[in-house]
Amino acid sequence: MQHVKLNNGLEMPIEGYGVFQVKPDETERCVLDALETGYRSLDTAATYGNEEGVGNALKKSGIPREEIFLTSKLWVADQGYEKAKKAFEKTLNKLGTDYLDLYLIHQPLGDYYGSWRALEELYKDGKIKAIGLSNFDSTRLVDLIVNNEIVPAVNQIELHPFLQQKEAQKVMKEYGVKVESWGPLAEAKHGILDDEMLNEIAAKHDKSVAQVILRWHLEQGIIIIPKSVRKERMAENLDVHDFSLDESDMEKIAELDGRYARIVDYDIMDIVTGMNASKTPE
Ligand code: NDP
Repeated sequence: MQHVKLNNGLEMPIEGYGVFQVKPDETERCVLDALETGYRSLDTAATYGNEEGVGNALKKSGIPREEIFLTSKLWVADQGYEKAKKAFEKTLNKLGTDYLDLYLIHQPLGDYYGSWRALEELYKDGKIKAIGLSNFDSTRLVDLIVNNEIVPAVNQIELHPFLQQKEAQKVMKEYGVKVESWGPLAEAKHGILDDEMLNEIAAKHDKSVAQVILRWHLEQGIIIIPKSVRKERMAENLDVHDFSLDESDMEKIAELDGRYARIVDYDIMDIVTGMNASKTPE
């Protein structure tokens, strides 16, 4: 597995397994399947309500903790210096571990400056190996960077062929923040897997459309964390490291940018009020 070197030197697998929308009672089985398939990086979040399932799977797998790259995220309701520190401890307990590899501020809402100071301290105490953000647009990202000490290692944003985030990628590169894609398969929405051009490219390489899309991310050095509850798809999504897309494939896929609205739009008031109202699962 190829790794990406973060701005503090930490090596992160370029591909991991995400568990958003994996039901709490299915998570242990899914994560065990993912680990058996070969994934060694896992992405969860307090708000997913399935950190315990991830922790149970890690324990049952018998894989040494240091062989796993573990990411979780701080939810909006826990934003702010004091609350962030408490939420972090809760996350560690649920995951059954005493450190995280990566901890992200999940949303650019609420007192995320207070949270960032808490994360900086936890990082300096060695309880988190790298700290980062999620869903920060370029202006919020740069504002946070210029007003704080530690530059986020990662910004996890919606990124797929329908939302290629070229400008955001440029800014992140300039500031040394690695790009991590959520929804790398556009959550299989808007018929992305049936797109005619993507199907032609897939046929040319004897791969599936999902594999072509994931490879398209890897060609750009973007970290991916595709989710599937099905073991055969977990394997399919991991089998993307033995082929390359050529220039003409990349040019064709570039044409898909902006074809549909983003999955989560922070300009929509209901998104902002809804996330602020949402409690972190107990
Ligand atoms: P993905 O783009 O990974 O797509 C997941 C969907 O695609 C599921 O419906 C899955 O169905 C289907 N799928 C997966 N693999 C295949 C395949 N090979 N062929 C056909 N269909 C497939 O979306 P996610 O939103 O899950 O994003 C990935 C991860 O990113 C999340 O799990 C989470 O960890 C993170 N994330 C972070 C967010 C943030 O705000 N920071 C927001 C959203 C996600 P099935 O399970 O039935 O196979």
